[in-house]
Amino acid sequence: MENVIIAGGGIAGLSAALALLQKGVKVRLYEQAKEFAEVGAGITLSQPASRGLFSLGLQDVIEKAADIPARAGAVDFETGEPEEGPDLMQTAREAGEIPYYYQIHRADLHEILADAVRAADSECITLGKAVVDLAQDAEGVTVTFQDGSEARGDVLLGADGINSRVRALLFGEENPRFTGQVAYRFLVPVADVADYLGHGASVKYTGQGKTLLRYIIRHGTLVNGVGFVPTDSWTEEGWSTPVEHEELLEKFAGANPELEELLKRAPIDGTRKWALFDRDPIERWVVGRVALLGDGAHPMLPFLGLGAAMGIEDAVVLGRALTSGKPLEEALAIYEATRKDRANGVLLQSRAQGLADQSGGVATARPLDHQQLMAYDPASVPLAA
Ligand SMILES: Cc1cc2nc3c(=O)[nH]c(=O)nc-3n(C[C@H](O)[C@H](O)[C@H](O)COP(=O)(O)OP(=O)(O)OC[C@H]3O[C@@H](n4cnc5c(N)ncnc54)[C@H](O)[C@@H]3O)c2cc1C
Repeated sequence: MENVIIAGGGIAGLSAALALLQKGVKVRLYEQAKEFAEVGAGITLSQPASRGLFSLGLQDVIEKAADIPARAGAVDFETGEPEEGPDLMQTAREAGEIPYYYQIHRADLHEILADAVRAADSECITLGKAVVDLAQDAEGVTVTFQDGSEARGDVLLGADGINSRVRALLFGEENPRFTGQVAYRFLVPVADVADYLGHGASVKYTGQGKTLLRYIIRHGTLVNGVGFVPTDSWTEEGWSTPVEHEELLEKFAGANPELEELLKRAPIDGTRKWALFDRDPIERWVVGRVALLGDGAHPMLPFLGLGAAMGIEDAVVLGRALTSGKPLEEALAIYEATRKDRANGVLLQSRAQGLADQSGGVATARPLDHQQLMAYDPASVPLAA
């Protein structure tokens, strides 16, 4: 296998490109956007995501760009009382493990990945190319772009996100279900809210059917907030509907005084909302020479903060499987068999977590063993036979 085409330059696609380039494979990645512009929000890198990125040689740059909270705890939304439970940051420290969380601006993570890909091959990424069609035969796969041009490779990786065109071409269009939940996100300078961060750098407020996570990124200078509330109806799917400040305050009414003060200071122009849609897991990610990864394979609700982690894990395992010396179809089958149960399990668990949060309890719906979830290392997990 000599020539890989990747559709989509998000976290999963760029990670896969890097994993393959580092193993000497020629990769051509096509991204529909004319320029990369990640949304203004933070992202939490859990241990498996960090292990995956570190295996791609990115430990130093991630450690320079990310924040590590001293502790990460849950707090009652209404009373502001800390919930009981282990301090996972401390537990990881005491066990001598890598930090339980790194927290980073999405744009910074994206830039780190894109820079590493370009450093490995300056020709790898082409922007402004949307894949609209594909055709495969015994020798290869051809993709057609919106502008009518084509590219051909030995394999196509569909890393084109939650509304994956590649997935639709393989398996048909779907109608995702609206979950009845809407998410709000905002960034606010630490300097504006320093008096209202008493519960520490990384906090999850839960209760009354509402959940709000807030944590600090960009070297202690920015608070990233993301909250989820039930709503009556909404059909728009997308990340960036602007929100009046009053709406944010109204939706999170009843918050404890510290959180209320923080929300009052959320910058009006930087607050966005989006509706949460849910999809069932799919049983096949591979058809012939085409494989799905990241949100294209397993778009999940954000309640566990593990969506990007799953894409990074996919990418690292794909890099290993495709360079294992096995014939292409066998290598792709190995990838799917190694990854599917885990990522689909996390998808279902994220859904369960959302339901637990919505029903107002302290959110601990964890059908998968939590320790096992976090102990995973995509760089060393045995490949399925
Ligand atoms: C509120 C929220 C908070 C989250 N927090 C976390 C967190 O803390 N930790 C975590 O691990 N995960 C988190 N996630 C999940 C994570 O953001 C996603 O799972 C992850 O970004 C998906 O990466 P991806 O590369 O698969 O898809 P995307 O990031 O969607 O990238 C897909 C790319 O493909 C491009 N594309 C689309 N169609 C085409 C086409 N036809 N041709 C070419 N290019 C195309 C798109 O422009 C895009 O650049 C969160 C998600 C949400 C919604």
